[in-house]
Amino acid sequence: MILTRPPLKCRELVEIVTDYLEGDLSRRDRRRFERHIAGCEGCTSYVEQMRLTKRLLGRIPEDSIPAEAREALLDAFRDWRSETG
Ligand SMILES: [Zn+2]
Repeated sequence: MILTRPPLKCRELVEIVTDYLEGDLSRRDRRRFERHIAGCEGCTSYVEQMRLTKRLLGRIPEDSIPAEAREALLDAFRDWRSETG
C-alpha cells in the first residue's frame, strides 16, 4: 500500500535540508524534497546557499542557521506563497 504524503512545506524543507545535502534522506523524502524545490524559488536559492556553505566548509555546521535568520527566511517564504497564491 502506497501512502501519498502531503507535499513538503517550506518549513519542513528547512528542517531537512542538512540531511538532504548529506545524503541522509530516504529516497522517498528526497523525491518530495526535489519536487518541492522544483516549484519553489525561495527554497531553491536556500538550498543552493546551503550547498555552497557545505562545499566551502566541508560540512554544514549545526549553528549555520541562526534562529533569527531562519525566521526571516520563513517569513520570506510566506510572502512568496501569498504572492503566487
Ligand atoms: Zn519552499
